[in-house]
Amino acid sequence: MKRIDERDTMFARMSYRKGTWQYDDYYSKNKDKKEIDDTIREKPNICGPGTATYSPVNSPIADANFLFLNDIKKFSEGKVNPNKVDVDKKEMTKKLKGLTLHYGAALVGICSMKDYHYYSYRGRHSEVYGEKVDSNKHRLGIVFAVEMDKEMLNRSPQLSEVIETSNIYVKAAMIGMQLSYYIRLLGYDARNHMDANFLAVLPLVARDAGIGEIGRNGILTTKKYGSRVRLGLVTTEMELIPDSPTEFGLQRFCEVCGLCSDTCPGKAIPKGDKTLIDGDLRWQITQEKCYGTWRNIGTDCGICISSCPYSQGVKKSIENDDDIDEVLKEHEEKYGARPYIREAPEWLK
Ligand code: SF4
Ligand code: SF4
Repeated sequence: MKRIDERDTMFARMSYRKGTWQYDDYYSKNKDKKEIDDTIREKPNICGPGTATYSPVNSPIADANFLFLNDIKKFSEGKVNPNKVDVDKKEMTKKLKGLTLHYGAALVGICSMKDYHYYSYRGRHSEVYGEKVDSNKHRLGIVFAVEMDKEMLNRSPQLSEVIETSNIYVKAAMIGMQLSYYIRLLGYDARNHMDANFLAVLPLVARDAGIGEIGRNGILTTKKYGSRVRLGLVTTEMELIPDSPTEFGLQRFCEVCGLCSDTCPGKAIPKGDKTLIDGDLRWQITQEKCYGTWRNIGTDCGICISSCPYSQGVKKSIENDDDIDEVLKEHEEKYGARPYIREAPEWLK
């Protein structure tokens, strides 16, 4: 698989300010993206005044989480204890997985990191724009999923949604910090990949470690929690025993289902069959349409997460298309077009 350049991701593109060399460099090489990006740049910020969900008291709850994440991202890397402790890789694999779950993750796996898991170049912060990512430094990754509250996500795209996603980004960052500090203290380099400070594409890492599959909505979807999770990753030089990818039938389910595509307010999720993209047969969302919708609404939307039957819990094992039809019928009878809680929680009103 081709490595993804972080400079092409929406968050990176939105960080390029007019008049800076990063802006000039990027759009001189990507002329086709300039007009759409300049249009999105004109829109209000997520959680900002002018968005559909803005509240001067409640929007800063999510903003505060993002601000905190930005402040602590410098702790993602750190000094390694020169006095290395000899460890057994089987024992450490068991210990680190158990510790990750104990710290609050719902699912954990070990990934044998390949080149395509890492971005080719960094882009999200001006000080590291264009920096090459070294894919050889850490060849193992502890990847984990933290569950997001179902009721909060079922209020998507209201403020409750971004309050919960930002809350779980903080939780994932904390788990990653605790693990990476521990591993470095044992004498092995380790790095926490957290919100706004990723060197790797976490859904690909999680998929290859057997945590879930990537479906039509382009998000990592797990059998138990659907796409109602945020991911965290600690990469390390420590030797561990990697897991393998697993499948629970999501690809076939997505072919029949399409609920995320039907309910997406930005029309960003494709209908129909997978297409060949960079040599890989898959669905690909239109990130400009998705992100542009976020900037109108004022949250990171989340409708494709709550719409997914797996996010509400699919208990039935899917053996054939009849089982898929049955799950979709039950889902529609229970939720209509999609699960939706109109009222904010009492404490947020
Ligand atoms: S987050 Fe919203 S706009 Fe983006 S793909 Fe999902 S449903 Fe569509
Ligand atoms: S809503 Fe349906 S099509 Fe979309 S990811 Fe979930 S299972 Fe797949």
